[in-house]
Amino acid sequence: MSTVEQQLDDLKAQITSELPSDISVSSVKYEGPELVVYTRDPKKFAQQGDLIRQLASKLRKRITVRPDPSVLSRPKQAREEIMDVIPDEAGVTDLDFHADTGEVVIEAEKPGMVIGRHGSTLREITKNVGWTPEVVRTPPIESSTVSNVRSFLKQERDERRDILEKVGRQIHREEMSDDEYVRITTLGCCREVGRASFILSTPETRILIDCGDKPGAEGEVPYLHAPEALGAGPQTIDAVVLTHAHLDHSALIPLLFKYGYDGPIYCTEPTRDLMGLLTLDYLDVAAKEGRTPPYESEQVREAIKHTIPLEYGDVTDIAPDVKLTFHNAGHILGSAVSHFHIGDGLYNVAFSGDIHYEDTRLFNGATNDFPRVETLVMESTYGGRNDYQTDQEDSEENLKRVINETYEKGGKVVIPAFAVGRSQEIMLVLEEAMREGEIPSMPVHLDGMIWEATAIHTTYPEYLRDDLRDRIFHEDENPFLAEEFNHIDAGEEERQEVADGDSCIILSTSGMVTGGPIMSWLSHIGPDPDSTLVFVGYQAQGTLGRRIQNGWDEIPTSEVGAMGNGGGRGTLSLNMDVETVDGFSGHADRAGLENFVKTMNPRPEKVLCVHGDERSTQDLSSALYHNYDMRTFAPKNLETFRFL
Ligand SMILES: [Zn+2]
Repeated sequence: MSTVEQQLDDLKAQITSELPSDISVSSVKYEGPELVVYTRDPKKFAQQGDLIRQLASKLRKRITVRPDPSVLSRPKQAREEIMDVIPDEAGVTDLDFHADTGEVVIEAEKPGMVIGRHGSTLREITKNVGWTPEVVRTPPIESSTVSNVRSFLKQERDERRDILEKVGRQIHREEMSDDEYVRITTLGCCREVGRASFILSTPETRILIDCGDKPGAEGEVPYLHAPEALGAGPQTIDAVVLTHAHLDHSALIPLLFKYGYDGPIYCTEPTRDLMGLLTLDYLDVAAKEGRTPPYESEQVREAIKHTIPLEYGDVTDIAPDVKLTFHNAGHILGSAVSHFHIGDGLYNVAFSGDIHYEDTRLFNGATNDFPRVETLVMESTYGGRNDYQTDQEDSEENLKRVINETYEKGGKVVIPAFAVGRSQEIMLVLEEAMREGEIPSMPVHLDGMIWEATAIHTTYPEYLRDDLRDRIFHEDENPFLAEEFNHIDAGEEERQEVADGDSCIILSTSGMVTGGPIMSWLSHIGPDPDSTLVFVGYQAQGTLGRRIQNGWDEIPTSEVGAMGNGGGRGTLSLNMDVETVDGFSGHADRAGLENFVKTMNPRPEKVLCVHGDERSTQDLSSALYHNYDMRTFAPKNLETFRFL
């Protein structure tokens, strides 16, 4: 008998002895990080509201209770009883029964009303029908990504359970080594922005954190084949942790499955959906540009199938000696500061991922409060000595001024923006400014994936800033549903119409003008001196956005040609005004980065400054060393640090 079997047998005996004698346990299983307890008495279990919580804290495990399939009432009958318990205002849109696990997935417009106070309605459901309810939100704006991911996972349910059981056994395997060390190897994004990737290793475990591409430098991928990483074989990686969905962190996650990795990916639920959206688009863009993409959509599906979503604050076993907890990073939807607790009190490492320290319109500021942290791996995008950003209020004033001036001239405002994050931030600014009459009401056209990304935001309001979340809960106040917003969904014809029409605002991908519909907008509107191109986000070295920002106004049509306009030789004259309104970045500026460390509780002993160009990482590293008396480093790629 394997040790995991023994462990489960012991757990079953222990749980049985903890429970009142009239509640039976038919089996216990690991599914990923969860311990699943099957019982023939689900109703009695639910009657004792606190039982699961008590068990969880006693066993120090995440526990799910499910009915033994033999005691389930028929779905038809259960459906009626469930609908009797849930208030009508909850707006249930779907009930989906899974007899193999005794779960019923309830999709509702107002999940909170299905859950009830402290889960009271959910318990009521189990008390009445025995099934274990699980609740998901019906997206207030229809999202093809969310519905595709949900139906795909439903279709792959059996295989997914096999994956989860296998992962569960891996996590709970016996520790083999009695050596102790903690190491971090940098595989990318050191003294550069892009291709984020790290290996965190102990004698027992190896974890890959992020696996991104480098914008504007296709082919520069993380050093995945280093002996520290996949060099020792893809199966030697225990887990992949994804801090957020931006492509410079996520683009090459599916590639891991092409290389033979078949373990779990941990991220938040919105990160999973956004990763699906962005990586599929990444393949699309590569195909349009005539490049051979490094993997196919099949691998994106594999990645989604292997994802184990975690919520902020869930302390989760991901290996015999590693617990992972995500915290809000304030950067984009679902972005997470990833905290690793290694050994039993042995060592703690936090990876900031990308962070925004102050509150924005979209998100609460990044969390920097932890039980313990010895080492922080910290982004440094704006870590340079002079990388101070205009504060948000001034930035908003600037943007409104540019819009008003352009409107007076009868021109159009074109804003290249990342689909995820800054677009929604700008949408909120525009919605309020129009509502309050600070800028004239005019159409705001959303092109590329911005609309779809916005729909995903409204699906997960619990990840948004408190007051925004509350507004989305009340449908008539959902700012993303304002009538000025128009989804460009009819392609080139619609763009031509907009270009020929009256003043308007256009928000379009890609954010660094490296492809996508923004190229088409440049060719339509670029020659118009009355219009304005406004940069609101970071423009990396080597991107067309950066070159335009630096004054390029004759763009070879081959650069714009990706959209099929012009092509061939010749140049496009960019006569429109070019403005940069900073302060909308999803990244903390130099002050924000310093404040994140300064107010961090507890303050780390060591900081690795990564994810910034050479100057930014070195400036930040030396400032933190001088101001806060900590050991700091600005590593290069492929360095390994030993911390213990
Ligand atoms: Zn990012």
